[in-house]
Amino acid sequence: MQARAALRTGLCALTLLLAGCQTVHTTNAGAVGVTRSQSMANFVSEADLRATAVQNYQQTLAGGQKAGKLNDDPALTRRVRAISSRLIAQTAYFRADAPKWPWEVNVMDSPELNAWCMPGGKVMVYSGLVKQLQLTDDELAAVIGHELAHALREHARERISREYGQNLLLTVGMVALGVSGPAAQLGDMLGKVTFSLPHGRTQETEADGMGLELMARAGYDPAAAVNVWRKMARVQQSQQAEFLSTHPSSSTRIAELQALLPKVTPLYEATQRKG
Ligand SMILES: [Zn+2]
Repeated sequence: MQARAALRTGLCALTLLLAGCQTVHTTNAGAVGVTRSQSMANFVSEADLRATAVQNYQQTLAGGQKAGKLNDDPALTRRVRAISSRLIAQTAYFRADAPKWPWEVNVMDSPELNAWCMPGGKVMVYSGLVKQLQLTDDELAAVIGHELAHALREHARERISREYGQNLLLTVGMVALGVSGPAAQLGDMLGKVTFSLPHGRTQETEADGMGLELMARAGYDPAAAVNVWRKMARVQQSQQAEFLSTHPSSSTRIAELQALLPKVTPLYEATQRKG
């Protein structure tokens, strides 16, 4: 693993020479203390990525609409949007600009156990996740909070930067062309990091911690996040647990969440006292 980390660092150093990397802090640390600085390739801008996300999201919505699968359960859509709104209202603790992002939240009728949030706040929850795991509002808030955290931390941009770093010929070609990423290529890449490539362990830990804080501040019991992963573990063998392929579970995840509970439970309790 150390060799792989060294290789990554080396590749980023090489990318830096060729195209430029920058070290950024996308979010405030919050009570859970997410402080890692992130390395982003200069030519993968968050603005380009958000524009690409708008296109990809529109395509997903149009496909769902055509198949009659988009928001076909109005009660579920209302529920998912209400929970999301409460979480989004708390994002300012991590990023002052985030509550004003053009957030969109939709539900796809699908047996898939999946949920994701594209850059800039384009959220999709699959009905299978809610129904098969019989998620309570608190548990659903844990899943959505985790997904919002990936977007707040610009994890997609970080992963795409890394992918380009590992494909130096492509990088050199893009830099030579003086483009910030041909739209189609960026679209493919965003699709991959959203739908198929697994998040790294570090990003998962960050999303777990920030998601936990978002839900606690929004008045959802953070202990429910542990239940979600217990339920996930039970369906791990399922062929349709897409969420697990992009969000690899680990035996340490539940322990890490439990260790963070003392930091966020007082935030949750404060919301309960306010009534
Ligand atoms: Zn994740």
